[in-house]
Amino acid sequence: MPPRVLARKGGMHYDADMTRPTAGRRTGQGVSMARRKKIYEGKAKILYEGPEPGTLVQYFKDDATAFNAEKKAVIEGKGVLNNRLSEFFMTGLSQIGIPTHFIKRLNMREQLIRQVEIIPLEVIVRNFAAGTMATRLGMEEGTALPRPIVEFSYKDDSLGDPLVPEEYIIAFGWASQQEMDDIVSLALRVNDWMSGVMYGVGIKLVDFKIEIGRVWDNEFPRLILADEISPDSCRLWDTETGRKLDKDVFRRDLGDLADAYTEVAKRLGVLPTNVTHRPNKPTLIN
Ligand code: C5P
Repeated sequence: MPPRVLARKGGMHYDADMTRPTAGRRTGQGVSMARRKKIYEGKAKILYEGPEPGTLVQYFKDDATAFNAEKKAVIEGKGVLNNRLSEFFMTGLSQIGIPTHFIKRLNMREQLIRQVEIIPLEVIVRNFAAGTMATRLGMEEGTALPRPIVEFSYKDDSLGDPLVPEEYIIAFGWASQQEMDDIVSLALRVNDWMSGVMYGVGIKLVDFKIEIGRVWDNEFPRLILADEISPDSCRLWDTETGRKLDKDVFRRDLGDLADAYTEVAKRLGVLPTNVTHRPNKPTLIN
């Protein structure tokens, strides 16, 4: 049977996992990318104009970058895995009452989302010392923190996303005091749910980054979870072995990144447990 064609890229038809070009016309549910208006292209995702006002299509690329894009690679299948994992996390969070931008998954690489005004902050929650916190404070990676710590970086690649105190955020008008209080409480709720879900599948949630968007109900602003939640934006360690199952595998050359993400997806039931990401990577459960 010929592979199911789900989308087109650069005029080419692509098969279900969007990694192999196929001959013939598009027959699946994917939307032609050639005719769509690109709104924004980031390091790992592209945003296209959505079908309705106030919506966007979020496309997950296979590109992996680290150290502010100094290190780059294309990891086959990563976009498919992150699309599916972000759908899993956003759906679960919305079921416990956290508003998110996620509307529905469209195909293997795309999801329909609400358009938001992005607050220019990376909101980072840490449960254990790792990464820049461990380096900055000379702490051993994996040290348990006395409580979850929420910190903020100003989203600006040209500045390397510098850590900023809340006072800057309010003084410069990036968010109001009320919004900052809401962001901290939202981030801690996300942390509680995510930590529990990951613990249930033998994974420690060391830290993660989220982004928050503002939507307007008449003239009243409301905050919702935006962007993505995936192993690109979390540190995930196997509880038993300490194996890293997140983007540090790429940052630190620890092995095959898609294998690590596939393991997370399998444990969460997003992929069947008997698949490897090659040669039929990844298999979709519907
Ligand atoms: O690098 P650092 O230790 O500050 O990262 C903390 C967490 O935030 C990690 O899970 C990392 O993957 C995530 N992060 C991110 N995007 C960034 C910076 C950090 O997803 N630009």
